[in-house]
Amino acid sequence: MSETKICIYPGCERPAVPADPRGGPQPAFCDLEEHNALTAHQERQRLAKEGSTEEKEEASG
Ligand SMILES: [Zn+2]
Repeated sequence: MSETKICIYPGCERPAVPADPRGGPQPAFCDLEEHNALTAHQERQRLAKEGSTEEKEEASG
């Protein structure tokens, strides 16, 4: 059971914070405060919206 869990926040590849030694499930997110179930959900919504305009990925400038 030494598998490293990765933060499930879209685009985040940081390792998830380790489970609390006192017990409980391991969090699915890394130690960044802004990475949590709510922001991950919002980010997915945002990405889903932007998915249709993926071709315009290049920024001008
Ligand atoms: Zn993260």
